[in-house]
Formats: sequence, structure tokens, C-alpha cells
Amino acid sequence: MKKAFITGITGQDGAYLSKLLLDKGYEVHGGVRRISQPETTRLEALGVHQDVHLHEFDLAEMNNIFRVIRNNKVDEFYNLAAQSFVGASWELPIYTADVDGMAVVRILDTLRTMAPDTRFYQASTSEMYGLVQEVPQSETTRLYPRSPYGVAKVYGHYITMNYRESFGMHASSGILFNHESPLRGKEFVTRKITLALARIAHGSTDPLVLGNLDAKRDWGFAGDYVEGMWRMLQQDKADDYVLATGVTTTIRDFVIFAAEFLGLDLEWVGSGVNERAVDKKTGKTIVEVSEKFNRPAEVDLLIGNPKKAKDSLGWSATVQVKALAEMMAKSDYDGAGARG
Ligand code: NDP
Ligand code: GDP
Repeated sequence: MKKAFITGITGQDGAYLSKLLLDKGYEVHGGVRRISQPETTRLEALGVHQDVHLHEFDLAEMNNIFRVIRNNKVDEFYNLAAQSFVGASWELPIYTADVDGMAVVRILDTLRTMAPDTRFYQASTSEMYGLVQEVPQSETTRLYPRSPYGVAKVYGHYITMNYRESFGMHASSGILFNHESPLRGKEFVTRKITLALARIAHGSTDPLVLGNLDAKRDWGFAGDYVEGMWRMLQQDKADDYVLATGVTTTIRDFVIFAAEFLGLDLEWVGSGVNERAVDKKTGKTIVEVSEKFNRPAEVDLLIGNPKKAKDSLGWSATVQVKALAEMMAKSDYDGAGARG
């Protein structure tokens, strides 16, 4: 039986990856940081919380990382834990640099010493492309991060490559474009949209307030992306791969997809901060814009080229953005959160 360790097992991807590995017959271990109330709701949502082995683990603690790796020899180590919200990274730049950047070398160097044969996956991100230097973005596109989060992840990405090249470690980095699901954190724009619109469809009069509606993202389904992570670690040689759908969509169009599914027929009026969407049937304002949600530096356009992953891993995204918006809107409409 193969064994895997997942940092960030309580997060969106950690939950989907746990399910995938358990279904493949792995023994799954994961790291949980100490908080006042252990949070395993995503693992519970996928019905796997009883089947995984949880260990206290914090990316900021060198000795904690050392003990976890020494005491749990595994075949595959997936580093998914991070301060993952771009918006928060301007408020937490030093913390973000530490846990999204420095912690990667803490793990790699411990693996090098204690478990050099363990295969390693690093959760890199399309946010490293930032002010994009090429369209679409591939593994060879020059990086130009636009947030403390993006900058920290660039360090994690390059140190993973460096340990692979310096010490021959099986260390791969997945440059994943945005991937979402009903388990996505509520501060990310897709989930914020589907949760607010589901509440409105249930009768709430609170409008959905968003920032930049013109930003474009390449959105896929998290369930597909964890399969890509796993495939990377099954290759004879470690490497870096983009996982993306190859389609880009504005925030406004994501709102439209979710609203249509929930029976809300929107009319868009005004522009800039005065733009809003009203319900054609009732005339009620459904979407407003506020500069409060704008970022100090924006990433305007992300669109990935997943050719290498398709050719080498046989991987491609199976859920397109409209179906994704509908899946999330349905889940939020059916869930308790929308009625409360
Ligand atoms: P989530 O925010 O859902 O999960 C992040 C996880 O990291 C949580 O389990 C969280 O624990 C844990 N964590 C945060 N800080 C620490 C810490 N100091 N020590 C230990 N654990 C910690 O993110 P996703 O699942 O969406 O993303 C997984 C990874 O992929 C992240 O590294 C993210 O940056 C990266 N990524 C994500 C993309 C996406 O679109 N989803 C795109 C590209 C990259 P807790 O539950 O306690 O908060
Ligand atoms: P990111 O790509 O990792 O930053 O994912 P997010 O879901 O947080 O943001 C995606 C895009 O949506 C960014 O360009 C944001 O500026 C834009 N956006 C517009 N309004 C909002 C909002 O209210 N919340 C968030 N999180 N993003 C917003």
C-alpha cells in the first residue's frame, strides 16, 4: 500500500486529493495546524474524514516539519498548505513569504536529509505570471508576480526546481490556474458570487458587492486538478506542468452563468464603480461594484496552455467554466448557508 502525506489537507484541494488517493488505495496522512476548533468540514463533505490520519503540522515550525517527516515515511509528499488568498497577502506579506515561500525549503531540505526518495509535489500557481508576458501562459513563460502571494510562490517554485536539479530529488511543481468547487473558500470571487446569488434566489435583499468585473481567469474544477497533481508524481522523471482549461472568462460572465442557473435574468447598467446589475423581473439591484475590493496591483488576464500536461500526462480538464458555475450555484442553493 502506498503512503502519502498532504499538507493543507483541510483545504479545498487537500480534501479532493485525499479522496482521490484513498480511492486509489493509498494510506493518507495529512497536516492540520492548531486552531481553537479543528476544522475538517471539507473532509467530512467528501466523506473521508474517518479514513485519513491527521498530524499536527505548521509550515512556520521547522522542528515540527522535521518530526512529521522523520516519523511518517511516505512515498509521496504533496505540499498544498499555504496562505492561499491573494487579497490577504498585502496585509500579511511577511507571513505569506514565510509559509508560501520559506516553508517550501524547510520541507525540501528535511526530505533531502530524512527521506530523499520521497516524491514531492509543490503547489505553484498562475499568479506567478501576474502581469503576463505571453498569451497563453506555459511552463516557459517569464514570471512577473503582482502580489506578495505571487512573489512568495515564485520562491517556492524555483527552490523546488533547484532541489530537483541540485540533489536529483523527484520534486515536481504544478503551475495550476484557478480551480474551484463547492468547497472553495468563501473569500474567493467564484464562491462569493455563487453564495450571494443563492441567498438572493432564496429571497435575500443583500446585493452582491464585487470589485473589478473585467479581470479574466482560467477557471477549472478542483476535482480534475488533483488528478493532474497525482499524475505528475507517477512520472519516471520529475518536471513542471501547467494545469489549465485554456479558456478565459471575465468575473462578469461568471456572475451571468451562475445567475442564469438560479433563474435571475440580469440587466447591466452604468460603468466603472457605477456599474450594477438589476433583476429584469423585479428591478432590484443584484450586483454592485465597490472599489473596496480592488487590489493594489491587479492580475488582469490569465489563460493557460495545458499542452504539455495533455501530451505528457494525458491530462485535460473535463469541466468547463459554465458547468462549474452551475455546479457551485446548485450546491450553494441547496446548502444550508444560502437560507441562513
Ligand atoms: P485552501 O485555502 O483551501 O487551503 C489551504 C490549506 O493550507 C488549508 O488546509 C490551511 O489550513 C492550510 N494552511 C494555511 N496556513 C498554514 C500553516 N501555516 N501551516 C499549516 N497549514 C496551513 O487552498 P486550496 O486548497 O485552494 O489550494 C491548495 C494550494 O494550491 C495552495 O498552496 C494554493 O496557494 C495553491 N493554488 C491554489 C489554486 C486554486 O485556484 N485553488 C491555484 C494555484 C495554486 P486551515 O484549514 O487551518 O486554514
Ligand atoms: P485569485 O486569482 O487567486 O486572486 O482569485 P480570486 O477569486 O480571489 O480573484 C479573482 C479575480 O476576481 C481578481 O482579479 C480579483 O480582483 C477579482 N475580484 C473582483 N471582485 C472580487 C471580490 O469581491 N473578491 C475577490 N476575491 N476577487 C474579486
